[in-house]
Amino acid sequence: MQIDLSHPDFQAAIPIMKQIEAAGYEAYFVGGSVRDALLGLPIHDVDIASSAYPAEIKRIFRKTVDTGIQHGTVMVLWHGAGYEVTTFRTESGYQDFRRPDHVTFVRSLEEDLRRRDFTVNALAVRHDGTVIDLFDGLADLDRRVLRAVGDAHARFHEDALRMMRAVRFQSQLGFAVEPATQAAIQANAALLEKISVERIAAEFTRLMLGQARAAGLQTFLATGLDTHVPLLGAHRAGLVALAALPPAQITAPAVAWTLVATLCQVPVHPLMTAWKQANALAELTQRATQLCAQLAAPTAWQLYQAGEAAVRVALAAQAYLVPAFDGHAIAAAYDALPIHSKRELAINGAALIQQGFTPGPQLGETLQALEAAVVAGELPNEREQLIAAAMV
Ligand code: ATP
Ligand code: MG
Repeated sequence: MQIDLSHPDFQAAIPIMKQIEAAGYEAYFVGGSVRDALLGLPIHDVDIASSAYPAEIKRIFRKTVDTGIQHGTVMVLWHGAGYEVTTFRTESGYQDFRRPDHVTFVRSLEEDLRRRDFTVNALAVRHDGTVIDLFDGLADLDRRVLRAVGDAHARFHEDALRMMRAVRFQSQLGFAVEPATQAAIQANAALLEKISVERIAAEFTRLMLGQARAAGLQTFLATGLDTHVPLLGAHRAGLVALAALPPAQITAPAVAWTLVATLCQVPVHPLMTAWKQANALAELTQRATQLCAQLAAPTAWQLYQAGEAAVRVALAAQAYLVPAFDGHAIAAAYDALPIHSKRELAINGAALIQQGFTPGPQLGETLQALEAAVVAGELPNEREQLIAAAMV
């Protein structure tokens, strides 16, 4: 079987592979770019696997960077771009269910492909386009099935994150999880607790943003994975409702978390803390979730306090929650606010002090009252009039 490597990202990397071969080693495209190219999907980060050891790669190319040398990855700098070349390796140990105790560099492509998670991720392609398919990955791509490479039980035991990767890829690709693989997830779901929350969260977010979110969530629930992630296991009804939302793809993590918080009825900050999400994302989600609850008839002040980003997120989330919802009027109301931030207020503390006001909490309250009056359209945003109003 041949694959079309005309995509410029593949083309740009082919000279590197030829050079590795000329030095007497093997080199292949592997991983997601091969899978996605075969599916006709856009590709990103082209990964190269090679029989050459890191030190050998560094001898072949003039400019390299040790980006992950302990895992066997060296970045080759070539005509201004960087290409990651990873030495074939096997992994063993996995006493902690998440990380191999030993990574061993090997010369055999087969051994390298054997340690990969799913058959559709275990394809390799030579620079001439020849596909090496040792685990029936092509047939599984055709059938649109995610199947663990080798014994699914053993593979999830080695690295429990693979179970989250399965439901993430299910959602991203719209594939089914092959029954034995799904049974093994169900049997091993509790091992997910060995995995760091950040890594689980990254996969969960990608699941939420995938095209087949409902299917991914259904497997997440059916296998009991949900009972081994922070907080959500106690809110199954919310997750079921999440799976039943209209199918349109979710475009941003904040929209996804707003829907999770709203449907599972959990307060945003404890949720985001339990999932170790960044403060900025937590804050945006908090504002959007709060506004979502007010969207039936938001006041100018509520829209103003939410801010533009949260208004956008709340409107996007609401479109899933209330299919008949029309956000245009609210978006227009936000745009029509007299000011959109305190910085736009025609007066500030310093200006009021110049007018003889004493610094202190009183001044803060006066300013806030002016801000609220301007937002509500009760006062024009004009310096003289605001000063006059402050004098009263
Ligand atoms: P994408 O980049 O679209 O998320 P991908 O398949 O490229 O998908 P990566 O996480 O970039 O996923 O990993 C690259 C490849 O490395 C995978 O295709 C798979 O072969 C292998 N791989 C990654 N993580 C694991 C894992 N936890 N267990 C086994 N193999 C893995
Ligand atoms: Mg990748």
